[in-house]
Amino acid sequence: MRVLIVEDEMDIAQPLARLLQAEGWSIVVAGTAAEALEKLGQIRFDAVLLDLGLPDQSGFVVCRTVREMGDAAILVLTARSDEDSVVRALEEGADDYVIKPFRARELASRLRAIQRRRAGKRNYRFGTLRIDADAAQVFENEVPLPLTAQEYRLLLLFASNPGCVLERGVLLQALWDCGGNFVNDNTLTVTVKRLREKLGHEGARIKTVRGIGYRWEERM
Ligand code: CA
Repeated sequence: MRVLIVEDEMDIAQPLARLLQAEGWSIVVAGTAAEALEKLGQIRFDAVLLDLGLPDQSGFVVCRTVREMGDAAILVLTARSDEDSVVRALEEGADDYVIKPFRARELASRLRAIQRRRAGKRNYRFGTLRIDADAAQVFENEVPLPLTAQEYRLLLLFASNPGCVLERGVLLQALWDCGGNFVNDNTLTVTVKRLREKLGHEGARIKTVRGIGYRWEERM
């Protein structure tokens, strides 16, 4: 599990980083919002531990960006015990929060609990697109998208393999296997085209890899 710690107080960040490293997790520390945004652009994190009081910008900015970029777990570390900042963080997409001072071991176990909850849920988020694989529903800006079964299966394949080139043969096989109908190469091309159109601007994530297949871009 890759974890980003966003915290300007190094006497909090460093012991926490050491403890989480001892748990076998890979840790990156950012001391400002700007640094956090830079790291988020470079590395895909599974979880973000986020201090709301940062020296350059509010932690809410980071929270929103993490949510827009994907489905990393967000655990807010806040010195402010006032209800407003906690409520706002949860509204901005945070999963949980701990009030400082906290015990690092408790924080580690909360983080594990979030991971377990998330692992049981097959949900994908790319920009304004949300795929709820448990309910087999897709939302663009929280508006349900009417996809055919084939378009949905194709999207799910892309979403679960971000950044990977999926060969046409693999896609054909997957669509054919699930649908029970024969899918030819031309049908695949047409299905991809229709899916792109229905996804609107998020459809630009489907890149054609000439002569091979398609790739789903996690970051645009
Ligand atoms: Ca702080």
